[in-house]
Amino acid sequence: MSSWTGADDEHDPEGQTIAFERAQVQGLLDDARRELAELVRAAVRVEDGTYGRCERCGAAIGDERLVALPATATCITCASRTR
Ligand SMILES: [Zn+2]
Repeated sequence: MSSWTGADDEHDPEGQTIAFERAQVQGLLDDARRELAELVRAAVRVEDGTYGRCERCGAAIGDERLVALPATATCITCASRTR
């Protein structure tokens, strides 16, 4: 009766697909949480009256950059320095 104990999980293709999809969903969730955290920080800056100002150098962030990245906290100069 040895075949009884041998659970064949590793060779279950559906099990692997589900694991893969879970990992992908987890990745999407992580991205969404990061974006949400940035938006929350942006909302705080709106209340502070500091929204649209670079949090590193204090310069005004360009309108085009704010349109493209509404939650950004740094101007294009500081952002390009760190990357
Ligand atoms: Zn800056």
